[in-house]
Amino acid sequence: SASNAALLARREAAVARGVASAAPVFAERAENAELWDVEGKRFIDFAGGIAVLNTGHRHPAVIAAAKAQEDRYTHTSFQVVPYEPYVALAEKLNALAPGDFAKKSLLVTTGAEAVENAVKIARAATGRPGVIAFTAGYHGRTLLTLGLTGKVSPYKRDIGPFPTDLYRLPFPSQRDGISVADSIRALEMLFLTDAQPDRVAAIILEPVLGEGGYHPAPPELWQALRTICDREGILLIADEIQAGFGRTGTWFAVEHSGVAPDLITVAKSMAGGYPIAGVIGRAEVMDAMAPGGLGGTYGGNPVACAAALAAIEAIESEGLLARSTAIGENMRARFADMGARVAPYRMWDIRGLGAMLAVEFVTDFDTATPDAALTKSVVAHALKRGLILLPCGMHGNALRIMVPLTASDAILDEGMGIFEAALADAMA
Ligand code: PMP
Repeated sequence: SASNAALLARREAAVARGVASAAPVFAERAENAELWDVEGKRFIDFAGGIAVLNTGHRHPAVIAAAKAQEDRYTHTSFQVVPYEPYVALAEKLNALAPGDFAKKSLLVTTGAEAVENAVKIARAATGRPGVIAFTAGYHGRTLLTLGLTGKVSPYKRDIGPFPTDLYRLPFPSQRDGISVADSIRALEMLFLTDAQPDRVAAIILEPVLGEGGYHPAPPELWQALRTICDREGILLIADEIQAGFGRTGTWFAVEHSGVAPDLITVAKSMAGGYPIAGVIGRAEVMDAMAPGGLGGTYGGNPVACAAALAAIEAIESEGLLARSTAIGENMRARFADMGARVAPYRMWDIRGLGAMLAVEFVTDFDTATPDAALTKSVVAHALKRGLILLPCGMHGNALRIMVPLTASDAILDEGMGIFEAALADAMA
C-alpha cells in the first residue's frame, strides 16, 4: 500500500499549490476522535476536519441515516423534485434557532455559499447594498465572503478587488486595546464617514471568531449591535458556521449573549462530516427573494440532509451540549496547569466558550509578542506523537480545540497528555 511520502509526491505534482494541508500524512480510516494514516499510524484528532465533527468521525447514527438515504435516492435537485428530508431539516433548524418569531430556512452546500446567500437575502429584504463586517472575521473564500473576511494573508492576498459596499469595524481585542465601546464608537463614526446607515443591509459577526483565534464576541457587543440594527433598520447576521451545533455548549453560540439575530448561517458540525450548509432567518426576511432567486443544483443534498438530521438527533440524545461545557471546563483547568508547569510565561491566554477553546503562545508575558514559531513547533511535535492540531488567529500563535464532543474521557486525557509532551518538546 501507498506510503505518505509517495502520496505527498503525487499530491505535489497533481494538486494546486494554493490548497495547503496541515498534516503531511494521508488518511486511511477514522472513527470518532481517532484517525489512522496509510502507514497504520494512529492519531487523536483535535481538529475534527475544521470543526465539522462535533459528533465525531463516522457517528454510527449519521452513517446509518446516510446509507438508508442512499438506498432510496441521492439526488433529484430540490428545485426539480423536492423531498422530505430537506423540509424536515428546515423545520428542525427553524425550531432550534433563537428568536421568538416565525423562521424559515434555505439549504446550500458550503459555508461560503451560506454567507453569500445571507447577504443576498439581506439585500433583497432591505433594498440596501451595504454590509459591515469585523477585523479578524472569517466568512469564506468566494469573492464576496473574502471581501467580508478580515485577514489578508493567506486568504485575500493578490486577488482583489472585492465587491463594493463592504465595510469593516475593529473587533474588540484585549491585545489591541479595543473595548466594546471602541467598536461601537467606530460603528457610529462609520455611519458618519462612509456607510450611510439607510444604505446598509446587514452587519455580520461570528459569535466566537473561528479562524480569527477563538475570541468570543462580548455579549455587550451583540446587545449594542442589536439596538443599533433595530434603530437603523439593519439586519443582524450571526455566522455560526464554526461555533454552532454544540461547540460552545449551546446549539448556537450567539445564545450566550441573549440576542436573537435576524439571520444565522450554519454548516460544518450540522451534518457530522457531510457537505451541507444553510441560512436560517426571520420568515419575512427569508421570503424576500422571489421563487427561483435562491438555490443551486446540489443545495440541501438528500444524503447530507439525512446525515444532518441524525447528527442533530445525536447532539440531543447524547447530551452533547452539556458535554461540551464539561470538556471546556476540564481542558481550561488542564491548560492552566500545563502552561504553568511546562511553558511558564509562554501561554498567554486560554480562552473560548465551552469546548470551543484556544490557547495562545507568546515569546514573553510582558510584551505578549505572538510566538508563531513555538506554536508551529507544538503542532509538529504533536503530530509526531500522534495528535492532530490546527492553529488559528491573526498571528498564527493560537491552537484551537475542535475535538469531537463524543470523545471518551480516556481519549481526551490521552490527547491532552500528548499536547503537554509536545509542548515540552517545543520548549526544549
Ligand atoms: N464562516 C465561518 C465562521 C467559518 O469558520 C468558515 C469555514 N472555516 C466559513 C464561513 C466558510 O465555510 P466553508 O469553508 O464551508 O465555505
